[in-house]
Amino acid sequence: MSNIAASIITIGDELLIGQTIDTNSAWIAQHLNELGIDVLRRVAVGDDKVAIVKALNEEIANATIVIITGGLGPTADDITKPLLCEYFGGKMVVSEQVLEHVKAMMMKRNRPFLERNLKQAEVPDICTVLFNKMGSAPGMWFDKNGKVVIALPGVPFEMVSIMEDEVLPRFRKQFFSDALLHRSVITAGEGESFIAEKIKDIEESLPAHIRLAYLPGAGMVKLRLTGRAANAEVLGSELDKWQRQLAERLSEIVIAMEDIPLEHVLGRWFAANGKTLGLAESCTGGYVGHLITQVAGASDYFKGSIVCYAEEIKQSLLGVTADMLAQEGAVSETVVVEMARGALKVLDVDYAFAITGLLGPAATADRVEVGTIWMAVADKDSVKTKKFWFPYDRARNKDMAVSMGMLMIWKFISRK
Ligand code: AMP
Ligand code: MG
Repeated sequence: MSNIAASIITIGDELLIGQTIDTNSAWIAQHLNELGIDVLRRVAVGDDKVAIVKALNEEIANATIVIITGGLGPTADDITKPLLCEYFGGKMVVSEQVLEHVKAMMMKRNRPFLERNLKQAEVPDICTVLFNKMGSAPGMWFDKNGKVVIALPGVPFEMVSIMEDEVLPRFRKQFFSDALLHRSVITAGEGESFIAEKIKDIEESLPAHIRLAYLPGAGMVKLRLTGRAANAEVLGSELDKWQRQLAERLSEIVIAMEDIPLEHVLGRWFAANGKTLGLAESCTGGYVGHLITQVAGASDYFKGSIVCYAEEIKQSLLGVTADMLAQEGAVSETVVVEMARGALKVLDVDYAFAITGLLGPAATADRVEVGTIWMAVADKDSVKTKKFWFPYDRARNKDMAVSMGMLMIWKFISRK
């Protein structure tokens, strides 16, 4: 496969003092990797001319492609644009297209057009302007001695939009004549090593132009096949064949054949089967409902979530009794079952999921250990419960609980 090398330079004082987390280079690295471009290094520097030039010199020496983000804004600390202009020996000119765009943006927001904004429309005359439909600062593409240097705004959604619309398609054309295709198999409930053992012979017989990657997440492992070949159609059916083999071998744990989040997998199932879902959420405070409603069209199958944080709400809305709470505690199998049954009835749904737990960090008067979570899924005939224990901080315990809860719903409805 390809060995085109790239480097990423992120610019901004805020990155060096840890105020902003550098999510840009992670996103860029992932997407270059999917294309078959290897990222050699990721460098972060401050808004400092000497540091930026030094980083540029070093990375251009190492890599064919250098992608820079940050420092393109209209304020005094943003020095990347004039610096690159000077570095590549150009002069600043006003881009009419960018000027019109910035003026239109200001008008739409009812803001006056300032001298500062005129600066935003200036670009080096030796670059290709990469139009930024999400913001005012355009991206820039410089070609020099077979190397490509690209500068993008630091604002993550602007960077993403320019990468997707302008940069990645150009890379595909310029650096690869071959087709590049992916196939995914998403699994849940087993770890990487179990899977690797189970598909060992398949993995070993993959041809050289098809690679398999393991991408583990909370409770799930994504398997991604990447193939590169001259003929897209032939490659496509080849990949389909390998994907089918993997899915058949792992049939017990496969939840999807494409790279989509679990809420989409659930959404498709509920929509396709014409069933409805309701929730009773204590410790997650509506988080499961939030994820379910990330999917467009969720209103077709999702009726609602009863956020029952306080004991009296569990009692008045869901039918949990004071006796149960006194005898078993709020974090108990008895209570979570009653919550699920209550949600089933009150929300009048085909399936209900309930969750109650102690996220920490402080142990309360409850009798369970911090990190203990009870979950239940019910339909009118049956209920399934599960107890979890997570050792992390509050935020991660909540994330884990939600991931495991969604998986539990999926296992229940698909009878796995
Ligand atoms: P700038 O283009 O330098 O004006 O950056 C604008 C804003 O984008 C900054 O204030 C940060 O909040 C954000 N930002 C800059 N660089 C990054 C990065 N590498 N990762 C995530 N956010 C960033
Ligand atoms: Mg900046």
